[in-house]
Amino acid sequence: MNPLTEHQIRTSFVNASKGVAQRAALPDLAEAAWEDLDYLGWQDAKKPQQHYVVLEVDGEIVGLLLRGTGRPPGKKMLCAWCEDVIDGVAAASFVAPLAGASGRRGNTKGTAVCADFRCSRNVRRAPAAYELRSEDPALLAYHREQRIAGLRERSTGFARAIMGG
Ligand SMILES: [Zn+2]
Repeated sequence: MNPLTEHQIRTSFVNASKGVAQRAALPDLAEAAWEDLDYLGWQDAKKPQQHYVVLEVDGEIVGLLLRGTGRPPGKKMLCAWCEDVIDGVAAASFVAPLAGASGRRGNTKGTAVCADFRCSRNVRRAPAAYELRSEDPALLAYHREQRIAGLRERSTGFARAIMGG
């Protein structure tokens, strides 16, 4: 994804008040590996129940507030965004307020996402032998592109559902 500034992030939230967006503790943006990220996700360092995801939807920067403990439950739960069967099985439950009036009335939508928002890393890992047994660079690149596309489709799909209110 394209690198984002603090201002872009703070003004991107579709389901959080301006106050929440202004007070959110941001990660170190200079440290983010933007070119290998499909979305930027992090836990608020001061309010551990608050998590944020910022991603591009149809060229627009969209920020989402997610609530949850950020800890995976005792049992394995597959991440609904990367669907990675190896590293995506320690997903945590989150709920996001819907945008607009619906969200202000308390309506939310839930999802399960990798607890440490590692989806972008997961979809870029080398496939296990049972996933794809090949040394063909073109085939491996295609496999990776497909997985990245799937993550983008599912994460932006969730964002669209939140924006739909
Ligand atoms: Zn994931």
